[in-house]
Amino acid sequence: MTDTPVNTRHPKGLWVLFGTEMWERFNFYGMRAILTLFLVNSLMMKEEDASLIYGGFLGLCYLTPMLGGFVADRFFGNRNCILLGGLMMAAGQFLLFFSASVFGTNISLATTLMWSALGIIIFGNGFFKPNISSMVGSLYPKQEKSKLDTAFTIFYMGINLGAFLGQLICPIIGDVKDNAGIRDIHAFKWGFLAASVAMLIGTAVFYVLKNKYVVTPEGKPLGGLPSKNDASDFEEGESQKAVFSQKALIIAGIVFLSLGAIIHFVFDQNLIYTLIYSSGLTLAGLIVSDTSLTKVERDRIFVIYIVAFFIIFFWAAFEQAGSSLTFIADNQTDRNFFGWQMPPSMVQIFNGLFVVAFAVPFSMLWDYLRSKDREPISPMKQSIGLALIALSYFIIAYNVKDLGNSGLLAIKWLILLYLIQTCAELCLSPIGLSLVGKLSPKRFSSLLYGVFFLSNASGYALAGTLGSIMPATGDKFIKAKELGIDLQAVLDKTVTPTSEQLQLLSKNQISDHNPIFAGFEIHNLFEFFMVFVVLTGLAAVILFALTPVLKKLMHGVR
Ligand code: GLN
Repeated sequence: MTDTPVNTRHPKGLWVLFGTEMWERFNFYGMRAILTLFLVNSLMMKEEDASLIYGGFLGLCYLTPMLGGFVADRFFGNRNCILLGGLMMAAGQFLLFFSASVFGTNISLATTLMWSALGIIIFGNGFFKPNISSMVGSLYPKQEKSKLDTAFTIFYMGINLGAFLGQLICPIIGDVKDNAGIRDIHAFKWGFLAASVAMLIGTAVFYVLKNKYVVTPEGKPLGGLPSKNDASDFEEGESQKAVFSQKALIIAGIVFLSLGAIIHFVFDQNLIYTLIYSSGLTLAGLIVSDTSLTKVERDRIFVIYIVAFFIIFFWAAFEQAGSSLTFIADNQTDRNFFGWQMPPSMVQIFNGLFVVAFAVPFSMLWDYLRSKDREPISPMKQSIGLALIALSYFIIAYNVKDLGNSGLLAIKWLILLYLIQTCAELCLSPIGLSLVGKLSPKRFSSLLYGVFFLSNASGYALAGTLGSIMPATGDKFIKAKELGIDLQAVLDKTVTPTSEQLQLLSKNQISDHNPIFAGFEIHNLFEFFMVFVVLTGLAAVILFALTPVLKKLMHGVR
């Protein structure tokens, strides 16, 4: 070994995975940017319902990776699952293109197509996402695992470069308004078509280059059929897979159903949200009930659970990007960006842009602090992430406070929000992934990643619920005025609308009452944003207070 120079270069396969993931995220985030606007403007849904669909869709996209990971491990292998997932997502986007082409003449067909498309994309994402991420890990032989942190930083940049491009192209061609600000509701289809083409390119890139580059240093193909893989990557003497007893599985089944019943009937969550929350909790319980766990292993798993719980609030706040924040960008924002009217769905592009700009400086910052022995432990970084997201909403809350029903928010505040949220993301998201890797006993590693992804899924579901409590924005007041209705008075209950007026409001997707959250009425955008400040701020403080305990439970892992 001594005469072999240390190889600091990354395998070429990383760049193939980078390119494939970049096109896939183009397809995913490009479509995400315009989805809710399409649901509201073309399929005539209420913003509230669009937010719930959006949250459920994203949540399910993080539930199906469990299935995709399982199918790859047992049957098809990573490569086939990536190809299958890519083709499914391209097909799903094409169905959305079809839906956005026919809604003008047949809205019920368009709605059916939209549901089928989202279903296919959810499963496609489930096959694609876990497998491409785990292939990044398997590119590096055991002695080169130290390069993994940098590899994942590069990969995270690929993700966000794709997100940036998707959020640039799909809004430009899909979210089109004329000079008078009137939207072309038939343009969304081009955005979905671009997403479909991007996914086809990504799949083709992977198909063509995989055999040459996605290989071991000896040139053997990676991620093939599981029957052809060997277990050389595992430590000797350690079992690779967790095996649960039949009794444990039956109890887990009963717990899953009972929790489901409570979440659905007592907490009044829809079936999709119930499925997400209940699977996460059950899987978490199943893992810790395993009797083979040592005390140290169990302690570390509890740390994963505690962190996973707190980051639910992070994603719930962060994922307002494609729903409430897009609606606000659309309806109550001055989007003049250096003399150009930016499409509302494009405003979220600043997240991807800032990640690409800051991912490397952030990892350099952690390296620097580590060299000085002052690097915060992972849960501390995550509490900083939560505090930053609370700050981002606090700034916005104060800027919408005096807007009233007709004032416009300056776009710079949304850009600042995305800047702060990106710093928060970089403190929390990549760190979370590597923390799970470091704390998990090997035999439970993929299941614990499953729990972690399910906490992301729960965050998205909560994002849907929180997005749906956005109160009426300026456009609703203007529209109501055109209909001869004083919406403010209706919301304040100082006038009682006639049944005709109620019908008119509902036909125009305007609610006649303020939303309620946890027993509180949300009267305006200030109160709406303060919900996020309180939730994420409290989460930050509690996680911060818990860090000394967590540090102990981590037993030396940072
Ligand atoms: N933005 C990242 C991605 O799309 C992370 C999202 C997440 O982990 N929830 O992969």
